[in-house]
Order: sequence, then C-alpha cells, then structure tokens
Amino acid sequence: MIPLEQVRDNVRRVRAAVDEAALRAGRRPEDVRLLAATKTNDAAHVRAAIGAGISLCGENRVQELADKLAQNAYAGAEVHLIGHLQKNKARQVVGRVGLIHSVDSRPLVQLLDRLAAGQGLRQKILLEVNIGGESSKSGLRPEEAMELSAEMGNYPSLQLCGLMAIPPVCETNGSNRRFFAKMYALSVDISAKKYDNVSMNCLSMGMSGDFADAIAEGATLVRIGSAIFGPRA
Ligand SMILES: *Cc1c(COP(=O)(O)O)cnc(C)c1O
Repeated sequence: MIPLEQVRDNVRRVRAAVDEAALRAGRRPEDVRLLAATKTNDAAHVRAAIGAGISLCGENRVQELADKLAQNAYAGAEVHLIGHLQKNKARQVVGRVGLIHSVDSRPLVQLLDRLAAGQGLRQKILLEVNIGGESSKSGLRPEEAMELSAEMGNYPSLQLCGLMAIPPVCETNGSNRRFFAKMYALSVDISAKKYDNVSMNCLSMGMSGDFADAIAEGATLVRIGSAIFGPRA
C-alpha cells in the first residue's frame, strides 16, 4: 500500500481529471460522481481518501465490506457494493450499502427484494450488464437487462436506479469507448419505456484506465481504484 500522503494527492489529481473530462464532454463536473474502489486497502487508506474529499467508496467483497464497516472505515462517506454478489452473502449486504451495483440475475433480484422487505427498507440497485459479451464475466446480456427492468414493478422493496458495466480490459486508448456508448444507448432505451420502479439516473462505468472515455459517453459515476490507491499487490 502506498503512503497516505500519496493517497491524498491522488484523490485531488483524479477529481481534477474527472472534472476536466466532464467539461471536455460538455457536461457538468458535479454530474459525475467519483467512487473510490477500496478493495485490498486498509481502513487507514480509506480514511485518508475520505479526508481528501472522497464522499463515496465501493467495496468488492462482502467480507472486506463487513470488516471495514466494523472498523468504521467509511465514516463520512457513503459505501456501495461493486463486486459480484453471491446469493448466500446477500443477507450481509442489504441495508448496509447505499447501492448494489452488481445485480446480475433474476434470482438475485428476487432474493434482494425479499431480504429488503424483511428489513422494512427499500434497497437501491443497479443491473450489471456484460457489455463486452465476455464469457469470463458476470453480468446480464443487454436484452436480459431490458426484460428485468420491465419486471421491476414486481419488486417494491427494490429501486432500480440504473446500470453498471465492466467492459473488457482496456488494451489501447479509446478501445472501450464503443462499449460505453452501447451502455448509454441501453440506459436511454430502458428509460424511454417508463417502467414502474425504474429510473436510469445512474450509469456506473469507467475505471482508472478509461474513465475519461466513460465520462465522454455519459457515465454518471466512475469507479477508481489504482489511480487513487496505487497498484494492487
Ligand atoms: C477494482 C475495481 C474497480 C477499479 O479498478 P481500477 O482499474 O483499479 O481503477 C472498478 N470497478 C470494479 C467493479 C472493481 O472491482
């Protein structure tokens, strides 16, 4: 893990780069949220990032989320789950995060709705789309995301707020831009249907290597790990 001072510098640098990418795209900087992807980093590093202005953290693994919640590591910020969620871990997440980005199946939607209802709360979710059609990745096909969106009225204890994607590893500059454009088009298509219990306010896409392209194509939330916390071991 890198020195805490470097985390603070990186937060300021990344926020400035996000703002610049928004302005270049003719968008308002405040319309792009910066999520710090905190996986493998300890509570001290998370706190340093929050101290430097991060207001939103994203965790990948449920165990790591639980550990850092127990340490009060996210105090002063909101936390989201951004990693794959297994059904047997769902109970540990519902009601503990502001948004689950990685909802990728109908059975998981049904389970989350039941768990949220049991707690008397409404859980915000995104549907994860496998926009590159990669067999190695989880996520819904675009047509499945459309179908599930149409059904959201059946899940009153959930609130579908948008879409999330992890496109293929960015090989060359700009190579993921077409995937981001497809995600934006899908969110516009779903939004136009005016399905019950669906808003498409959030488009979670773009990571350290490609966030400027994601912002140019309409991302409203970028998930940044290594550009803030340094390379992962
Ligand atoms: C790790 C991770 C990120 C951040 O990746 P970087 O390339 O380090 O910025 C974003 N989203 C998800 C789902 C991740 O697991």
